[in-house]
Amino acid sequence: MLTFEELYKKVVESSTTKAYDEDLAELQYDPYHLECILRPESTPTKWQAANEDCRREGRYFVNCLFKHLSKDENNNYTLEYEDDKCKDCMDVNKVKKLLATKDSMAVLEAIKEGNRPVFAMIAPAFLSQIDIIDDGQLRSAFKQLGFKGMVEVSLLADILTLKEALEFDKDINDEKDFQLTSCCCPMWIALIRKMYPELLSHVPKAVSPMVATGRVIKKIVPEAITVFIGPCIAKKKEAREDDIRDAVDYVLTFQEVENIFETAKVTPDDLPIDLREHSSAAGRIYAVTSGVSEAVRATVNRIRPEKPIKVKAVQANGMVECKKLLKDLEEGKVKANFLEGMGCIGGCVGGPKAIIDKEIAANKVREYADQSIYKTPIDNPYVIELLSRLNMHTIEELLEDQQIFTRSF
Ligand code: SF4
Ligand code: SF4
Repeated sequence: MLTFEELYKKVVESSTTKAYDEDLAELQYDPYHLECILRPESTPTKWQAANEDCRREGRYFVNCLFKHLSKDENNNYTLEYEDDKCKDCMDVNKVKKLLATKDSMAVLEAIKEGNRPVFAMIAPAFLSQIDIIDDGQLRSAFKQLGFKGMVEVSLLADILTLKEALEFDKDINDEKDFQLTSCCCPMWIALIRKMYPELLSHVPKAVSPMVATGRVIKKIVPEAITVFIGPCIAKKKEAREDDIRDAVDYVLTFQEVENIFETAKVTPDDLPIDLREHSSAAGRIYAVTSGVSEAVRATVNRIRPEKPIKVKAVQANGMVECKKLLKDLEEGKVKANFLEGMGCIGGCVGGPKAIIDKEIAANKVREYADQSIYKTPIDNPYVIELLSRLNMHTIEELLEDQQIFTRSF
């Protein structure tokens, strides 16, 4: 049984990209980058109140918010200000908008309760959706609201890419065989389940990166409350599906989070950078159509460059193309062996609750991927460390896992 460390050494020894491998060899694994998830007690929250005097008195936003709210038996809130100072400080219209958003209020209430750590899990499409220079500022902003930490879902997209690449390597040995991905889009998976159940044997039984992130956090911090943040409404439904409902407690959209930041007067672009470099380029490009195919192709080429059958990918961009691709597949018209479907045009950057133009967002996502030190998940020491903490040291242990990265449809 080959361990991931042995696989990494084998990859480097047989590699043709010597300069890149020499650069990697010089990098030290730094536990700081996984602290949010592995040692949450070492990453204190940094509560902030909107008013500086009150901040000195130790008040903070959720504390202020709930001080002015009363809730009836039907969970409807009423807003009442006891003094003018608070009325001037909090924007009533913004608070009312917040009160109308059930999920946002549930998350803020969980933070206010304070007896369980609340984690933000940010979708790979996050860049430029919220006003920040980089993900480190976003982490600081979530901590100011009272979140325990922020984990980039792209770290778990890395692990799922590695799993999918290993599955392709093991299972696709015939020119006529094929794999259907992507696990990350619930619209695509729902379409296959409903209209083409006979194709399900070609879909890896992998959970989405959102679900994987929630499960990993809860495995390491069992009392954690997990909150996914992305551009997708379908993810709210996915989080409640029977076989995966254990993973994610709440799903918020970028717009809902922007509204919380505005009401709390948290301005991420003014905040210090709390940077954690823990995902590879592969996991970062999941947010754009063709990202999953590129990630899996690069990873298969990296772990088994001599494999005779290469990844030949085709993508469906939006639901119309998804339906057409599956119909073409049924009629024997598809020549590719790796079929990726994304329910929104452009991928998640074109999701219904994305805030900015999808072309601009796609460019930002690709720039962020280019900045990653690691090109594929097997090069990423944080992937290997996290798998080892989950007691998955070998390829077989990852492929045979039935609890964290696997679902049961
Ligand atoms: S809402 Fe009231 S208590 Fe809270 S920071 Fe503003 S002035 Fe202070
Ligand atoms: S492509 Fe659209 S529907 Fe699919 S996960 Fe992304 S935002 Fe959601």
